[in-house]
Amino acid sequence: MTNPTDFKETPYWWEAAPRPELPETPVAATCDVAVIGAGFAGLTAALVMARAGRDVMVFDKDRPGEGASSRNGGIASGNIKMKFADMMDQLGEDRARSIYAEGVAAREDVGRFVEAENIDCHFRLTGRFTGAYRAKHYESQAREAEFLNKHLDLGAEIVPKAEQHREIGSDLYHGGLVRPDIGGLHPGLFHQGILDRALEAGVTVHAKTSVDGIQRETDGFDVTTSRGRVKARDVLVCTNGYTGSVTPFLRKRIVPIPSQIIATEKLPPETMARLMPKGRMLGETRNTYHYFRPSPDGTGIVFGGRAGAGTDDPNVKFRHLKQGLVEVFPELRDVGITHSWWGYTAYTFDFLPKSVVNDGIHYASGFCGSGVVWARWFAMKSAHRILGNEAEAKSAFDGFDFQTRPLYTGNPWFLPMVISWYGWKDRLGL
Ligand SMILES: Cc1cc2nc3c(=O)[nH]c(=O)nc-3n(C[C@H](O)[C@H](O)[C@H](O)COP(=O)(O)OP(=O)(O)OC[C@H]3O[C@@H](n4cnc5c(N)ncnc54)[C@H](O)[C@@H]3O)c2cc1C
Repeated sequence: MTNPTDFKETPYWWEAAPRPELPETPVAATCDVAVIGAGFAGLTAALVMARAGRDVMVFDKDRPGEGASSRNGGIASGNIKMKFADMMDQLGEDRARSIYAEGVAAREDVGRFVEAENIDCHFRLTGRFTGAYRAKHYESQAREAEFLNKHLDLGAEIVPKAEQHREIGSDLYHGGLVRPDIGGLHPGLFHQGILDRALEAGVTVHAKTSVDGIQRETDGFDVTTSRGRVKARDVLVCTNGYTGSVTPFLRKRIVPIPSQIIATEKLPPETMARLMPKGRMLGETRNTYHYFRPSPDGTGIVFGGRAGAGTDDPNVKFRHLKQGLVEVFPELRDVGITHSWWGYTAYTFDFLPKSVVNDGIHYASGFCGSGVVWARWFAMKSAHRILGNEAEAKSAFDGFDFQTRPLYTGNPWFLPMVISWYGWKDRLGL
C-alpha cells in the first residue's frame, strides 16, 4: 500500500458520503435568489432563505459539495488567523473580544444546527491540541492561553513537553496548547445533511450547471447559466476557492490556495490510542503547518497540509504529506495510505472571512481554510441581509475593507515562492 500509485485520488469522506447525483430539471425563468456554489455556504444560505419563504435556485458547475466542502479535514475550529493578543494590540480590547466571541458563537452554532436538524455527521467537541514547533512558539501559546481565558473564559490549557504524550504520541513538539471548544465532524455527511435539508425546504439545486454571466438590470439580475437564463431579484456568490472569471470583484480579492490530505489504512486500536490518546483534532504552529485527526470511527488518521501546493502532480503532493506524517509519527513509516486528495481554500488579504455586497451582488467567501464553521456562519449573514433582517446580518467582522492588491486579478503566480519562503522560515526557526 506504500506504493504512491495505490491510493485513491478521491476524498476518504466520499466512501461514506458519495457525491450526490441530482436529477436534471429545467432551469425556470425566474426566482427570488440565485445562489452560485453548492458547498456549505451556498446551501446554508439557500436553506435559510427558503425557510423564510423565498424561491431559491442554487447552481453548481460540479456535483454539490465537489468543491472544498466534501474535501476538507472536518476540523470545526472557526479559526481566526490573527492571535487574540495581537488583535487586541491592533484593534483594541472591545473589538478583539467581539470578533473572537463571534468565533465562539459560530462554532456553537454548528453543534446546535447539527443536533436540531438531526444530521448524523459524527460532530464531536473533541478539543484541539496544537503542537509548538519551536520552544519560542510554546511561550507565545502560553501568553495566548492566558488572554483567551481572561477575556473569553475558553478553558485553554497549556501542556508542557514533558506531558505532551497525554495528547499526542509524538516527540516532535515543544509542548502545545489545548482548546477544548474546538471539535470535528465528517464533512461529507455534514454537507449531505445540509443538502437534504435544503431540498426538503424547497430549494432547487441545479448541479453540473455553471453560471457564466451576471447582468445587472433595474429590477434584479439576468443570470446566464450553461442550461438557460434566469431572472433573479438577488444574487449570492458562494464560490470561495473555486471563484472564476464570472465574478471579477471576488476573484481579485481571493487567493486560492491548494490544501492536500492523505488518509491511512486502518491501524491497530493500541496504535491509535498511543498516537491520538484523546481523539482530539490536532495541529501545529509552523508556517507550513499540518492539520490532522483520527477518522471519525477512530480507526485511522486523516493528515493534511499545504505541502506540495506548488505542483499539480498527485504523487509529489502525496510524497510531501507522507513525509510530514512520518516526521510527526516516525512509527508510521510503512503505513499504507488509502486516499490522497486535494482542493482549494480561499484566503483574503487581511485573513478575515467576508460577507459583503458590491454593486448589488452579495458575496460570502474567503474562509481562510476554516470554512467548516465560517462558511455556514457568513452565508447565514448574507442570507439575512438579503431577507432584510439587518440585526441578524450584523457581524463583528463588518467594516473591514475587502482588500485586493495592485495588478492582482486572481492568478496567484507568487504562491510557490511564498510557500517555499515559509518553508525556509520554518527550517531557520524564524
Ligand atoms: C483539503 C482541504 C482541507 C480543509 N480542511 C478544513 C478543516 O479541517 N476545517 C475547516 O474549517 N475548513 C477546512 N477547509 C476549508 C473548507 O473546506 C472551505 O472553507 C469550505 O468548504 C468552503 O465552503 P464553500 O461553500 O464556501 O465553498 P466550496 O465548498 O468550495 O464550494 C464552492 C462551489 O462553487 C462552485 N462554483 C464555482 N464557480 C462556479 C460557477 N461559475 N458556476 C457554478 N458553480 C460554481 C464550485 O463548483 C464549488 O462546488 C479545507 C479545505 C480543503 C480544500
